[in-house]
Amino acid sequence: MDIPNQITIKTEVQYLRGVGPKRGQILKSYGISNIGDLIRNFPRKYLDRTNVKNINQIKINEQVVIIGTVKSFGLKYLKKGKYFQLNISDETGFIQCIWFHGISWISEKFKEGDNIAVFGKVEFYKGYRIIHPEFDLLENSKDPSNTGQIIPLYASNNLFKKVSLDSRAIRKLIHNALNQVYLIKDHFSEHFLKKEALLSLDKSIRIVHQPNSNDDLKSAYYRLKFDEYFFLQLVLAINKYQLSNFKGKKFIELGDYAIKMYKSLDFKLTNAQIRVMREIRKDLAMDKPMNRLVQGDVGCGKTIIAMLTSAIIVGNDSQVAIMAPTEILAEQHFESFFEFCSKLNIKCKLLIGNLKQNQKNQIYEDLENGRIQIIVGTHALIQEKVKFKNLELVVVDEQHRFGVEQRKNLITKGKHVNILSMTATPIPRTLTFAIHGDMDLSWIDELPQNRIPIKTSVIESKKIDSVYTLMKNEMDKGRFCFIVFPIIEESDKIDAEAAESAYENFKKNIFKEYTLGFLHGKLKKESKTQIMEQVNNGEIQCLISTTVVEVGINNPNATVMVIENAERFGLTQLHQLRGRIGRGKFQSYCFLIQRKKTEQSFKRLSIIEKHIDGFKISDEDLKLRGPGEFLGTKQHGHISSKLLDIVNDGKIMRHARTRAFEIIENDPKLIKSQNLKKKLLQDYRHMLEFINIG
Ligand code: ADP
Ligand code: MG
Repeated sequence: MDIPNQITIKTEVQYLRGVGPKRGQILKSYGISNIGDLIRNFPRKYLDRTNVKNINQIKINEQVVIIGTVKSFGLKYLKKGKYFQLNISDETGFIQCIWFHGISWISEKFKEGDNIAVFGKVEFYKGYRIIHPEFDLLENSKDPSNTGQIIPLYASNNLFKKVSLDSRAIRKLIHNALNQVYLIKDHFSEHFLKKEALLSLDKSIRIVHQPNSNDDLKSAYYRLKFDEYFFLQLVLAINKYQLSNFKGKKFIELGDYAIKMYKSLDFKLTNAQIRVMREIRKDLAMDKPMNRLVQGDVGCGKTIIAMLTSAIIVGNDSQVAIMAPTEILAEQHFESFFEFCSKLNIKCKLLIGNLKQNQKNQIYEDLENGRIQIIVGTHALIQEKVKFKNLELVVVDEQHRFGVEQRKNLITKGKHVNILSMTATPIPRTLTFAIHGDMDLSWIDELPQNRIPIKTSVIESKKIDSVYTLMKNEMDKGRFCFIVFPIIEESDKIDAEAAESAYENFKKNIFKEYTLGFLHGKLKKESKTQIMEQVNNGEIQCLISTTVVEVGINNPNATVMVIENAERFGLTQLHQLRGRIGRGKFQSYCFLIQRKKTEQSFKRLSIIEKHIDGFKISDEDLKLRGPGEFLGTKQHGHISSKLLDIVNDGKIMRHARTRAFEIIENDPKLIKSQNLKKKLLQDYRHMLEFINIG
């Protein structure tokens, strides 16, 4: 084997002492190819030896660190299975550690007399015990990698099982690597680091793996997180800058269509809508393209904003494209747009995948010669065959559901089009800039005045009859009701069966005098459409359904939403379901049926009971669930780093954002910051919308 004499972060990990080609190959398949990857494999947790408890001091339910000696261990058998028990003692007492999982792996880890640190929550069952503790074997001989007071623990997941490396072995490897790597080069200048009071990259990485104090750790993590936020914000700053540097057509006049449309509205715009329209008009009047995101809850009136904006564009002899993430949403938008377009004699068409080829061809032709003024559609709009005469506005609904590429493909069908994005998907305020920081932001934070707030209550199973009574009352008054069932099993089928048997039961018993409908995901498209029509025109009085009801239904007479097993839904989903009612002039009611009560589910449902603002709900949900889960969702996939904790990192994020935007403003092509540019193009290229800097 050809061993390079100088180890750098680019050196393949197999050349590190203790790795070799075989382990090297496995590590590589898990994304650790070189020394740089290895030292960026940050600890999962720390075991703080400065906070060790004697066994005679511990209390039940307390999180503790204990250091002791392994006295004995072995498998224990129960009727249903087995577990592994490890008995430890220090000078003051005994404690048991118990493992129910990973037994075969764990049972080979220990020897009598081993020095061990364990960490976990204390329980009492025939003596003190900790179930599935974190643990760390401390070597009796002086092991330079764990003599510190704060010991890093590394993931002992599949990877480390496969290469038979445990936390301690990983720690040793990293220790070796850090000893041999002379200096980890920084992409920031010394001047910058000093000015921003940031540790160097080299120092931060070393501290994270070999910390001396909690304060050091804090500074090191600040720097490492700063890096991640900084580059994410740099991407946003560049995208924003590049778009704003395009020259676009100025739209100063409202034009006939917008004026007519405005006059024909049978309601007054809310103050929030007026403010947002002003912001949009200001954008349109400039000679650079608009790039604005309008955020607002379901029903706050975003569609009217999109229509008025489209009317301005069409009134200035230009074309508009409206792109929605699903066919149902596209069809819904088309219906709204078609209604206003036919009044004003604007030619508006729908382009979705399942049109007949000759229909599509006609649309392609009419778009290219400019006969179609507004086109509404799905991804079908970004196909190559779609060409415009003069596309000047793209409206993107729920824009986060499209990738950078897809948006770009639509936008580049015009010269320098204006972009109006809309979203009803609530993002916690702390996340807004992290995610939407490349756009100008508008909020519609006010519902139209004619709305009567929905009354929401959490209902326990035994009180369900009162809900049915109210439903009957409402239906007798000509109102419409929903009962929604959650996904109970992984499979759609069982899910539908549960809802179906409930439906049969309602039909035969409780609601036998009423007309019910049943809707679930497995129905054919035509049947679905038919049922939705029956709902919208009042042919049925109550719809039993699985969660498919979320989209496509808009009945102003709907006043009751009953959500079964509400504890199984996400808060955002509950909020969106509730958005199906309260759309007309009647008092509406939402009942969250709680079948399984836990403290957590009660807290979560109370949030929905208390709040009607989706953005507020999202904030509360984030606080309750923590960012891990939130960021785990696909929605926010581009912020995937394990280091970041968006809820608590507000300060670091703002710091990084300010600097990133400042740098791009002064040096948009990063000519004076070649190191930053290099790293950006190396690691973040896929996120740049219009690369014009490399
Ligand atoms: P969103 O798209 O934000 O969910 P919509 O634009 O579909 O909301 O509006 C919901 C309903 O409210 C529509 O029927 C719309 O006509 C109506 N609406 C919009 N703005 C107002 C307003 N200012 N006053 C009264 N009704 C309004
Ligand atoms: Mg809408």
